[in-house]
Amino acid sequence: MTSVAQDVWIDQKARSAGYASGEAFARELGLKPYRLAQLYRAATRELAETVDTVSVLPLDLRATLASRGFAFESVEPVIVQRSNDEQTSKGLFRLHDGNEVEAVLMEHWGDRTTVCISSQAGCAYACAFCSTGQAGYTRNLSAVEIFDQARFFARELATREKKITNIVFMGQGEPFANYDAVMDAVRLLNDPSGFGLGQRHITISTVGLVPQIAAFAGEGIQVNLAISLHAPTDAQRSAIMPVNRRYPVADLMGACAAYVDKTRRKVFFEYVILEGVNDDDASAAALAKLMRGHLYHVNLIPYNATPDAPLRGTGDTRVRAFAKILDDSGVPTTVRTPMGRDIAAACGQLRAETQPKVRAAAAAAVAVAR
Ligand code: SAH
Repeated sequence: MTSVAQDVWIDQKARSAGYASGEAFARELGLKPYRLAQLYRAATRELAETVDTVSVLPLDLRATLASRGFAFESVEPVIVQRSNDEQTSKGLFRLHDGNEVEAVLMEHWGDRTTVCISSQAGCAYACAFCSTGQAGYTRNLSAVEIFDQARFFARELATREKKITNIVFMGQGEPFANYDAVMDAVRLLNDPSGFGLGQRHITISTVGLVPQIAAFAGEGIQVNLAISLHAPTDAQRSAIMPVNRRYPVADLMGACAAYVDKTRRKVFFEYVILEGVNDDDASAAALAKLMRGHLYHVNLIPYNATPDAPLRGTGDTRVRAFAKILDDSGVPTTVRTPMGRDIAAACGQLRAETQPKVRAAAAAAVAVAR
């Protein structure tokens, strides 16, 4: 039995190599099902670097695959930077058409590691505080382009005998605006015969697309849902998130309540805390009111300043006071620890900084990461 994930992987890799489909690829090269399974397993489970290194495949097949451009990688690292404390590594990846996306690896205490991946090149939602949002939308990524960002960091971690333990869709783009490819990428990440990351270790973060939240509730999967709420009232939220005019707070909260009813799974709410915008006592009280009595968790996110937005993060003392109001109302709240600030690891920041002089140093940085 082959998995749906394997079919998606073979099909997309075959198409990138110029075949009409995965079936056409198998037919033209006379590949039996077990050969397809070996290829898929080598790339997604054994994390082989290239087709040439897969010793279970006959040499002539490896040569044919290489000459036809069948490749394990669909994302090419152009810059890999590591923060001074070595806990955060950020990769800028070039896609076949020259577009670039970012992914970030965070290594926490113990053996916990989180990789943050992108689902689109750019983003159409134009949130005021987000560097990617300010740059606009380019295109959707394919499932394999999403998956290969994780594969890159899994290979890098393997050189240090470590593994990816968590994946978050919190890089560039709006995952629910590229719903089908994101669900296929989840299947690729989760497939026990391939990459094998547990569903509970995957989190999808959305700007709040109500119809897709409803669809996601019906998937019957254990993947976590995070909502970028960032403000408790329509006036405040519309001012920083244009999507709120389409899906206002009441509709969004209704979709979240329906999701919890259906799945019995907790929803995580992200709240980037911004000075003078959403950090006053009244906002905390309004947020507590939205959260109270539900299976919800608030994650307060210190703002990573971006050069293009005239916004400032709230100071630590005020963040603590804000968190206390939520705590006192019985709302489970955590404050996210910022990581990788010295390498501009917030959404869209590295791409925004890409300059010829940075590119010149890329080859060396990539060599270090490999
Ligand atoms: N489009 C999705 C996922 C990508 S953004 C979403 O909106 O959820 C991932 C998270 O990073 C979101 O909560 C987003 O609001 C937040 N974010 C974006 N720019 C940020 C910044 N400069 N500082 C802190 N968090 C930021």
